Amino acid sequence: MSETFDVIVIGGGPAGYPAAIRAAQNGLSVACIDDWKNYDGTHAFGGTCLNAGCIPSKALLESSELVHRAREEFKVHGIQVGAVTVDLAQMQKRKAGIVKSSTVGIVGLLKGAKVTALPGHGQLLAGPQVEYTALDGQKKVLHATHVILASGSTPIDLPSAPVNGKEIVDSWGALEFDTVPKRLGVIGAGVIGLELGSVWRRLGAEVVMLEAAPQFLPMADQAVAKEAQKHFKKLGLDIRLGAKVTGARVTGDGVSVNFVDSKGEQSLTVDRLVVAVGRKPRTAGVFATDSGVTLDERGFIAVDAECRTGVPNVWAVGDCVRGPMLAHKAKEEGVMVADLIAGHHSDVNYKLVPSVIYTAPEIAWVGLTEEQVQASGRPYKVGVFPFLASGRARAMEAPHGFAKLIAATDDDEILGVHIIGPMAGELIAEAVLALEYSASTEDLQRTIHAHPTLSEALHEAALAADKKAIDFPNR
Ligand code: FAD
Ligand code: AMP
Repeated sequence: MSETFDVIVIGGGPAGYPAAIRAAQNGLSVACIDDWKNYDGTHAFGGTCLNAGCIPSKALLESSELVHRAREEFKVHGIQVGAVTVDLAQMQKRKAGIVKSSTVGIVGLLKGAKVTALPGHGQLLAGPQVEYTALDGQKKVLHATHVILASGSTPIDLPSAPVNGKEIVDSWGALEFDTVPKRLGVIGAGVIGLELGSVWRRLGAEVVMLEAAPQFLPMADQAVAKEAQKHFKKLGLDIRLGAKVTGARVTGDGVSVNFVDSKGEQSLTVDRLVVAVGRKPRTAGVFATDSGVTLDERGFIAVDAECRTGVPNVWAVGDCVRGPMLAHKAKEEGVMVADLIAGHHSDVNYKLVPSVIYTAPEIAWVGLTEEQVQASGRPYKVGVFPFLASGRARAMEAPHGFAKLIAATDDDEILGVHIIGPMAGELIAEAVLALEYSASTEDLQRTIHAHPTLSEALHEAALAADKKAIDFPNR
């Protein structure tokens, strides 16, 4: 193995592996070091996203949604299936298979791009050089012209509810249950908490979610948050806002959870407790103290808008740096840096990173919320189209939620799009593209959308912004 590379990437998650592949596409010699370890002790590329995040959660969301639909919806279609039972072992096996094929796929992609894949730990030294510790413990110092730190993030611990991997688990542990808990507690009603709570609720658990903040989904458009709350209640998620967990301990009867809400000190007992209170950047052991890399005030690796750390030729991307902790943001940063290193122009449009919550109904948005536009003082108009008025949504037995478009009154520019409803995570792509091209409401109004499709909801929302909706009364 060569010990000198044009680029060494530390981390093989959605930030690191695309950086490595693009750098290799740009004709550079590249190594990608990754130390992910699965529960069984084996190494896998792909980071949190493939092994313990996006992919396994979506696999279980899909399976559990099918269970829910079979139980609640099939009879409406005239399909009789008798009692629907869950083989959780098979469900978990399917998920594990999807994860495995994805992580093996990354190894294939790295190989195909001629990236040297190095399982093991990497630490940036002054130079820049990188100390590589292979899985067998052997150490080697590698030389690089450029180093990209892509070390990702780990779950935030709650000292009052220490994870023991059995009764009290983090988000990864909550994807690995081998039985459906009768009573499940979830601390944190953020994106991850809601997705995990939905999975286990649909599979039959009684789910109580304790959220310290008084407001539900404060980062979302509040009309969407309100609609979502209604649907989650119908599903049976018992979401308690303004409920701050102060302690949790394992007892003979499960986990006793103490929390404080507007009524004072409360407690409840659950069989399993998931701590989903957010994630923190992984920075320990990633760079030596004399490497010159620094952290910002929130503990992320400090970088500028182009992901430069301030140390010449050392870059950092993904969850370990500021910005939304999302796989697609991580990927775009990795690709941007690889292109900048090669001398190409590149940037990331941080204003247009879409957000998706993969619950049912799905929630997705891009751009500004109505609250943000209101606060900016810019005159605006809003168009809303409910999926109830969509023939396709009704045919899918999913006439829930709405598409909402917010545009400037002065020049008609679309400022934000918020969707709660079937396939919202897919539908939002059109809105991202529209905003990327600074499209006007009129541009969307004049774009032909196939009928009957869910995408017509966005078309009609654009029409509704000018009181020209056809399929729903204008207000
Ligand atoms: P990571 O994926 O954490 O990868 C970092 C990698 O670097 C890891 O493999 C780690 O072992 C390795 N590493 C770290 N330090 C070193 C070192 N010193 N030497 C060698 N290797 C090192 N995001 C979405 O966009 N959509 C979703 O649907 C979504 N769902 C999620 C669901 C859950 C349950 C969770 C937990 C997260 C979810 N996320 C989702 C977030 C997403 O997983 C992260 O934003 C994404 O993984 C960040 O990518 P990354 O490459 O920066 O970090
Ligand atoms: P996110 O950062 O989107 O994953 O969401 C994590 C959520 O956990 C946030 O909404 C926090 O308000 C919430 N949270 C953090 N600490 C506590 C706590 N002690 N009790 C209840 N909720 C908490």
